Amino acid sequence: MSDCLFCKIIAGDIPAEKLYEDDHVLAFKDISPQAPHHFIVIPKKHIIAPSTLEEEDDAVIGKLFRAGSQVAEDLGIEGQFRIVINNGKKAGQVVFHMHLHFLGGRKMGWPPG
Ligand code: 5GP
Ligand code: ZN
Repeated sequence: MSDCLFCKIIAGDIPAEKLYEDDHVLAFKDISPQAPHHFIVIPKKHIIAPSTLEEEDDAVIGKLFRAGSQVAEDLGIEGQFRIVINNGKKAGQVVFHMHLHFLGGRKMGWPPG
């Protein structure tokens, strides 16, 4: 999608610190980290949010979690991270291309803000 920030990162039109990439998934460091480790995992397909998922997206959703877990292992936070998905403006979604936040390297509080 031409006016989507994350599609521009996928296309290489906007630079990002990439951590993992394959045909379906891209992981890159968040520009404004909220933890010692904070990276974003996205499908290359322009999916707006979990609430707009279609059945054909089922496979890529699994890939997002597996790719993110592998990146976390590479970063040394294997099995110790929080995954956040903001769905919709009220929930804090700012970029309307579905993404998983992986946050780690510090103790996480609960409830989330
Ligand atoms: P949301 O609030 O939509 O769940 O998360 C969007 C995330 O994208 C934020 O954590 C924000 O810091 C990150 N972000 C926004 N613009 C850029 C950018 O140009 N590059 C990178 N790497 N991250 C970005
Ligand atoms: Zn997009």
